[in-house]
Amino acid sequence: MRNVTMIHKEPDLVSIPVEKAVYCGNCETVSSSHGKRCGLCGSEDIVVLASLFLRPWDPSPAPAAALAA
Ligand SMILES: [Zn+2]
Repeated sequence: MRNVTMIHKEPDLVSIPVEKAVYCGNCETVSSSHGKRCGLCGSEDIVVLASLFLRPWDPSPAPAAALAA
């Protein structure tokens, strides 16, 4: 992690490490809920954000049709 100096503090700032963050499609809120349900509304319509950002590198080449366009 880089050493970053804050110029000013943001009063209502809330941060959640991406590996702990889940997005609920029901209440449209990002939280640090554990398990398979939203900790706020109980919905199971959640997305683990780490699965979007921390996915392993995909070595498959781009389709030839996209390169020829
Ligand atoms: Zn929710």
